[in-house]
Amino acid sequence: MTRLPPSPFERTCDCRCPTHHGRHRFTYNDSGCHCRITCATQPTTLLAPHAALFLNYHGDLWTVPTLAADRFDWRRAAPVTTDRNPADSAIARLLRTATAELRQHLS
Ligand SMILES: [Zn+2]
Ligand SMILES: [Zn+2]
Repeated sequence: MTRLPPSPFERTCDCRCPTHHGRHRFTYNDSGCHCRITCATQPTTLLAPHAALFLNYHGDLWTVPTLAADRFDWRRAAPVTTDRNPADSAIARLLRTATAELRQHLS
């Protein structure tokens, strides 16, 4: 039986963020967070032109605005209400599939 690699929720921050370094990260709108998108705690993320999208621990879709290259405005990270826009629920579904496939692929 193959062992799956640890999920981002089982890992601790490795990006020198002043708030999370060495800790788990379950909330994404901490005002002091400077986590990078490549942080070990960051779930599989879709980079869009002005924002990044990802699923939180509960599988809910979240978005964070982009400030500059690899800089994100975590204070303004927020959940996306997927029942209003069919595109958002499609993105959530695709991220769920991509996450599951990647975990198998990387194990
Ligand atoms: Zn952080
Ligand atoms: Zn981090």
